[in-house]
Amino acid sequence: MISEEHPRYQSLLLREKIVKAYKEGVLADSGMIAHGRGEAFDYLLGEKTSRIAAKTIKTAAAALILAEKPVVSVNGNTAALVPEEIVELADTLNSVLEVNLFYRTPSRVKAIESVLKKAGASKVLGVDEKKLKYLDGLKSPRATASPDGIFSADVVLVPLEDGDRTEVLLNSGKMVITIDLNPLSRTAQKASITIVDNIVRAVPLLIKEIKILKDKNVSELEKIVNDFNNKQNLRESLKLMSLV
Ligand code: ATP
Repeated sequence: MISEEHPRYQSLLLREKIVKAYKEGVLADSGMIAHGRGEAFDYLLGEKTSRIAAKTIKTAAAALILAEKPVVSVNGNTAALVPEEIVELADTLNSVLEVNLFYRTPSRVKAIESVLKKAGASKVLGVDEKKLKYLDGLKSPRATASPDGIFSADVVLVPLEDGDRTEVLLNSGKMVITIDLNPLSRTAQKASITIVDNIVRAVPLLIKEIKILKDKNVSELEKIVNDFNNKQNLRESLKLMSLV
């Protein structure tokens, strides 16, 4: 039991969730390392959503509402940290969830599907290995996608994604929105919209923004997206983390 008085209480709670998910087979060992990398950047951010991240979340919300077919990608870390929230996000958008793993094993896919179903998901894509197609004509595990999900999506939300997969998604013509605490990661640098924030804070805020913006007209939403510059967003996020 972690004491609520502990100065790193929230951060330690997240660690507990990550370790539990690893023990339950939801998370690969490398997922724990990825979490540690994220923690370090969150520390530099003061473990709170910055003004620039809040603005980026609003942009991401607008882009997701404008999308014809938005898809929400889920990996082990996402399922471990925000299972209910990611299901609520997909429902709010009328979109679908797809299990999307870099280190894909049948048992991990099943474990994540079961976490999402327990969190209220009625449908989870990306589960049936035989149905997966390859993006961009690449016969590589980096390029797999479900035909009814990421494969045919125009906008994909891929939190905590690997840089190679992000590149494949972009090359196949999709808009990529990511949540990544490291503004220097390849995914953060390549994505169309990078939310530099912890997924546990970003997803609830994204749901809130989508609810606020849902009834706005298309031109208002397009202006929000067109006025956004990801390079500037990343520069400002890095500046916030600078210790001097
Ligand atoms: P890339 O291939 O894009 O350079 P990477 O190899 O550094 O990425 P991965 O392990 O593929 O990293 O992905 C994990 C990414 O997610 C890291 O950039 C890490 O900082 C970030 N991350 C980890 N935990 C969280 C979290 N809770 N919220 C947001 N981002 C996180």
